[in-house]
Amino acid sequence: MATISIAQEAGMCFGVARALKMVRKAAAAADGPIATLGPLIHNPQVVDDLARQGVSVATDPRQPQGTTLVIRAHGVGPDTLKEAQEAGVKVVDATCPYVTKVHHIAGQLSHGGYTVLVVGERGHAEVEGTIAHASGAQVVNSAQDVQALAHSGELGRKVGVVVQTTQTVEKLTEVTAELLRHCIELRIYNTICEATSKRQQAAADLAKKSDVMIVIGGRNSANTTHLAEICANFCPKTYHIEQAGELQSTWFAGADRIGITAGASTPPEQIQSVCDAIETVTAP
Ligand code: SF4
Repeated sequence: MATISIAQEAGMCFGVARALKMVRKAAAAADGPIATLGPLIHNPQVVDDLARQGVSVATDPRQPQGTTLVIRAHGVGPDTLKEAQEAGVKVVDATCPYVTKVHHIAGQLSHGGYTVLVVGERGHAEVEGTIAHASGAQVVNSAQDVQALAHSGELGRKVGVVVQTTQTVEKLTEVTAELLRHCIELRIYNTICEATSKRQQAAADLAKKSDVMIVIGGRNSANTTHLAEICANFCPKTYHIEQAGELQSTWFAGADRIGITAGASTPPEQIQSVCDAIETVTAP
């Protein structure tokens, strides 16, 4: 029978677990409507579960007066918070403290006269929240992005860099190597979250020893997608799923060692249910 191993670091991180706990507590205490600003986490199953507890998903911070509005772990810009407060909304700020730290650094760099670059995924909520804390901040995701800024004259002489917490060190290295060719002064803050890098390292370690890797997490989750890419480098039979029902028995044909990892938005019960389902489909 195949052995099934779960990566040493896998699943929900501190910030997401904290936000989920805060929203559940707020839902139990709320005496009026309650909503999260955007889906709480990139995990459709958890979002559906919250909806059953009466937590809706808002797209605008200006909710009716008296609404409890939860800011998710990704955080938001200062203007968004102000809009909610001015509308008379009760704000529960579940921004991950590590993301808050990135906001502070970006703000300080901006005040110090640096052109702030955020290494990350354009349009991602965390990145949008960070750029909103630093006037004129730009998002870069590749050496080409840096070249384009340099050629358009937008780079400036003093450049400060922060990183989306779920990015890889390789991405930061690519961007900073290019920046060194264009800047006179460069301040780099490696704000990649340890939770992310530990999950990435543990996923790579396990993928090297596995015939099949199962990566669990929302398809809209950037960090889960990164995990699947890392695993696929070492284990070609890597499958990214959201839940146990997607498993196919043919994936495991002839496999002796099956590895499992999960993104930072995946709760422990989802990991366990996938583990149980693999045991069932691989049972002799
Ligand atoms: S990955 Fe890190 S920074 Fe992002 S929510 Fe989790 S603990 Fe916070």
